[in-house]
Amino acid sequence: MEDINLLLLCCCLACLIFRSSLDPDSNSAEVTAQKLYRAFRKRWLQTETDIQLSSCLNATKKTFVNQETIPKEFESSVNLAEEIKVKSRLRGTIDWAPPRFQIVFNIHPSLKRDAVVAAQNFSCAGCGTPVELSKRLRYCDYLGKYFCDCCHSHAQSSIPKYYVSNFSKHLLCSIWHNPIFNVSCVNKTLYTKAKELNRAREIQEQLLHIKKLLKSCRFAESVLKEFEQVSSHLTTELHLFSMDDLVKIKQGLLVPLLKDILKSSISHVENCELCQVKGFICEFCQSSDVLFPFQTAICKRCTVCKACFHKQCFQSRECPKCLRIAARKMFSEAASETGLL
Ligand SMILES: [Zn+2]
Ligand SMILES: [Zn+2]
Ligand SMILES: [Zn+2]
Ligand SMILES: [Zn+2]
Repeated sequence: MEDINLLLLCCCLACLIFRSSLDPDSNSAEVTAQKLYRAFRKRWLQTETDIQLSSCLNATKKTFVNQETIPKEFESSVNLAEEIKVKSRLRGTIDWAPPRFQIVFNIHPSLKRDAVVAAQNFSCAGCGTPVELSKRLRYCDYLGKYFCDCCHSHAQSSIPKYYVSNFSKHLLCSIWHNPIFNVSCVNKTLYTKAKELNRAREIQEQLLHIKKLLKSCRFAESVLKEFEQVSSHLTTELHLFSMDDLVKIKQGLLVPLLKDILKSSISHVENCELCQVKGFICEFCQSSDVLFPFQTAICKRCTVCKACFHKQCFQSRECPKCLRIAARKMFSEAASETGLL
């Protein structure tokens, strides 16, 4: 009997879903949800009635209990939308939607608590439970919303220490090591505001160049191992940080580590014959200094031909290598035209 009831309910629901998909006026998720809820409720009330009646009625009478025998007031006396709003604990109701998985880049403006709670339709932002203004509510600094004490356990997250809801804590933990913060896109002025972050970027820029050089050297295996102390995105891409990197920079832990790796790398290049021959001689001054792209403080690199020069020698003059290449091209074109004539 139980199985038959269940089967009937499934058929009924399938039919409802099919019907709602055919009717253009009633195919919204909300209307479908209300229909499903009504169907469930009707079946549930019927089962309840069946159970109650079975204790006092015989089997013959029980067969007459069907949908029509359910008192009409059960169905009509309740405003269904109200009932769903008040009693339902489904994820997402008319007045509440669960928090979205989102990366928040800005600090929330400090608004009055009453205004924020009213904007949340007087429900907990985490579970939708209706809350009264007088009740203790906890603020989540990450989402800028208020939560009930079930959804906010005074967890903390950086930077600096903020109180966040359980949802935000979980979200931040799950992205903690992911390099998803591109400072040049999010907020370039951060480099001028956070000196340590800017220092990290300067060292990273050098590491990026020197790593390419070391990868082409067969004697650089041991020094390349040192790069494994930090996440690979820090030495392959500029401006990209994870929450973990940003916290470590703030704590002053990352920059010394990056400095150490750079120091070992420079020491290798200075003492390695293979690496030295890959350096450049400044064509302007022809001095004996061997220049490398990672020497960002003294070296200027031509963006076209990638040759390196002293910064002070390059100034606004044109790149001699590029000029040479252009002249050679012109000469060979002229020669081929003469040849054709
Ligand atoms: Zn809650
Ligand atoms: Zn080398
Ligand atoms: Zn020079
Ligand atoms: Zn050039």
